[in-house]
Amino acid sequence: MRITDIISRDQMSLSFEVFPPKKETSYESVKTATEEIAELKPAFMSVTYGAGGGTSEYTLSIAKNLKDKYNVPMLAHLTCVSSDKDTISKKIKDLKDNGITNIMALRGDLTPELEKSDRSRWDYHHAVELIRELKDKGDFCIGAACYPEVHPESSCQRDDIKYLKEKVDAGVDFLTTQMIFDNNLFFNFMYKIREAGINVPVLPGIMPITNGNQVERAIKLSGAFMPQRFKAMVDKFGSNPAAMKQAGIAYATDQIIDLYANGITNVHVYSMNKPDIAKGIYDNLSDILWKSF
Ligand code: FAD
Repeated sequence: MRITDIISRDQMSLSFEVFPPKKETSYESVKTATEEIAELKPAFMSVTYGAGGGTSEYTLSIAKNLKDKYNVPMLAHLTCVSSDKDTISKKIKDLKDNGITNIMALRGDLTPELEKSDRSRWDYHHAVELIRELKDKGDFCIGAACYPEVHPESSCQRDDIKYLKEKVDAGVDFLTTQMIFDNNLFFNFMYKIREAGINVPVLPGIMPITNGNQVERAIKLSGAFMPQRFKAMVDKFGSNPAAMKQAGIAYATDQIIDLYANGITNVHVYSMNKPDIAKGIYDNLSDILWKSF
């Protein structure tokens, strides 16, 4: 099932992102965790892809297992910057052969090694090149990333939105945002991209922060703005794991309800492979999910 068909339904829904194992030894525990999340019957699940090749080999097997065993629609991430054309062609073929038709087309982060290497030798420089290739290679439903707080390499939001439009015009069917902790930033961004003529659906990405130690890493990875009420929550409860977990689930739930109340029907949750947190959010929304209002 295409992600665009799922998210166009007039019902409140959630989707979850999971990540594949880093090593073979953790494969079984990741498989179990992702299966427990699939048991919640989310609208769809996405599986990330390691930019440097580390975890990329397991993306397909985790996605295929969830699709075959739980019938959950799957979105496989694919990054291009550290790959050559042959590798990407093979990955696209493998996804297609295994019935994965939803692909999140990404550039991937620039590792220090890549930064030092000769760019003229790279087969891919930006996600738009991968999007064009996917468009040529089959009937994929294509997702791409967007950044309400501007991608860290962009000098200004105007350029970032200009390149985002280029990706959408190349064939993107929907966008998912970098994690946001302040919904106003999302609504502001929506206004700007609609003004720029970007009209595809946009899924807000919500990361439940349920552990005080996660905060620093989340900021480092995303550069996301932390509102004062979020910081106050972490200051107050960050040193008590049970309290922080409850508060973090409540904060994410509150953000999701606000998004639903303001016209968004599907929210993408960065589950961090934690079924208890996914379930906590699901339970909080039990009289809202799969309903239309
Ligand atoms: P691009 O769209 O190529 O943009 C990167 C930068 O280049 C931006 O500053 C943009 O403005 C600029 N740009 C774009 N096109 C052009 C152009 N034609 N000319 C000049 N400049 C241009 N990383 C992973 O490794 N694996 C994952 O599974 C993964 N999943 C993600 C999911 C989501 C929802 C998000 C938001 C990010 C994800 N990432 C993942 C991180 C992502 O790979 C990084 O943010 C990466 O730095 C940029 O990827 P992109 O696809 O947005 O790149």
